[in-house]
Amino acid sequence: MNAPFKNLIAGEWAASQNASRNINPSNTNDVVGEYAQGSVEDLNNAVAAAKAAFPAWSRTTPQERYEVLKKASDEILARKDELGRLLSREEGKTLAEGIGEAGRAGQIFAFFAGECLRLGGESIPSVRPGVGVEVTREPVGIIGMITPWNFPIAIPAWKIAPALAYGNCVVIKPADLVPGSAWALVDIIQRAGLPKGVLNLVMGRGSVVGQALLEHKDVHAISFTGSVSTGRKVATACIAGNPMKKVQLEMGGKNPLVVLDDADLKTAVEAAVQGAFFSTGQRCTASSRLIVQAGIHDRFVEAAIERLKGVTVDDALKAGTTIGPVVDQSQLDQNLKYIQIARDEGGKLAWGGELLNRETPGFYLQPALFTETTNAMRISREEVFGPVANVVRVKDYEEALAVANDTEFGLSSGICTTSLKHATHFKRNAEAGMVMVNLATAGVDYHVPFGGRKGSSYGPREQGAYAREFYTTVKTSYTLA
Ligand code: NAD
Repeated sequence: MNAPFKNLIAGEWAASQNASRNINPSNTNDVVGEYAQGSVEDLNNAVAAAKAAFPAWSRTTPQERYEVLKKASDEILARKDELGRLLSREEGKTLAEGIGEAGRAGQIFAFFAGECLRLGGESIPSVRPGVGVEVTREPVGIIGMITPWNFPIAIPAWKIAPALAYGNCVVIKPADLVPGSAWALVDIIQRAGLPKGVLNLVMGRGSVVGQALLEHKDVHAISFTGSVSTGRKVATACIAGNPMKKVQLEMGGKNPLVVLDDADLKTAVEAAVQGAFFSTGQRCTASSRLIVQAGIHDRFVEAAIERLKGVTVDDALKAGTTIGPVVDQSQLDQNLKYIQIARDEGGKLAWGGELLNRETPGFYLQPALFTETTNAMRISREEVFGPVANVVRVKDYEEALAVANDTEFGLSSGICTTSLKHATHFKRNAEAGMVMVNLATAGVDYHVPFGGRKGSSYGPREQGAYAREFYTTVKTSYTLA
């Protein structure tokens, strides 16, 4: 099948035998486009192209790389409304969220354009007479990238931009559900003046294209974002292969938001509702566990329900929609399954959780808020990845902190309080890669490190200047003068 949206291999749009339909979750009658589904052969061709392009690209000047990244940034930012619309149409987040994410992709490219010029090294006196020591950074080589469906343009951007900035070549396999935004991004970067083969796009199944990428002997590193179960397979394959690959994993979360008695109620409710339910709760940083102190508990729950009554779940592209649909049927089934599990465990469904009918057929779910739950229940321990959150009541700050940390995940952790003492203690003691005070656990800047600890992340951080830890390799040179 000759899909109109093809894979990019060696600088050419390459036809593929198979194709898949990209469906709009707000209206399942709307086909966003037909996208190529790559084969193992396509993947092998893409890696060969990257390998051929690497010697020249890795020796380009910082200025040459700056110009490509800056031009890409300019086009992404100039077209962010159109790109945001495509993103919302294929993923289901609201138009404002889609445009915001597209803008973020443009800002990431601007940041890493600057990083091209900032990569320095060190000159260190040797302990031996007459010897000089230099510490420099070099590109890693060919980077394989595997991305999830929930940030269709930002995650490809925050992997591709640093990889190119530091002189690597790339083969990216975006999520099968949302290939459109990654396709548009790759098209922009290629036209920004990238030599052929430096960036290759192979859309398709994880079990086919993704697996072949993990197993390819010429790929030096894998940057993966997705679920814990796939991440574990990715890491295993990277270590088991010969040669071993450098690997970076960003995975799931069960992010706590603590609300203390002394919190500003309005701030806490906004942080909770925004963090748990916006973007349909489909964020790895979503505040899915709300840990609330007894003295504010009832007022918080009441105010959160009032706030939830004011949200509008509808077509992502419609004006006035505040929460779009769930991404597809299988994710909707998973959300409904967890709503049932929480009920069976004795949780009280305080608001929502029912399917909604709208003008067009789509995966519409009223956000679900559970109360009377404990941290031992499955609803507190497993990532749902939808608009479902639960409240755990605690007696004091010490119990709140213990419950917040009692999880296998460690991505983002938040606290709402007016106590400087508790905020300071929480920042130091929360077992998470990111800590938020009086803010939702989701919503981060693009120029600082992003990532977690425990079961949420593995390997060096992404984003900001810290991205160089993964996308460069350090060399120590000794010279006798
Ligand atoms: P997923 O693990 O199902 O898929 C992620 C990617 O891996 C997709 O491109 C998929 O095709 C590919 N894949 C699947 N099987 C593979 C295999 N055997 N070999 C190679 N590749 C394979 O995850 P998803 O459902 O797309 O995304 C949701 C998950 O992503 C959630 O757990 C969420 O928390 C996580 N996520 C994490 C972050 C973060 O930065 N920590 C950000 C966004 C999403």
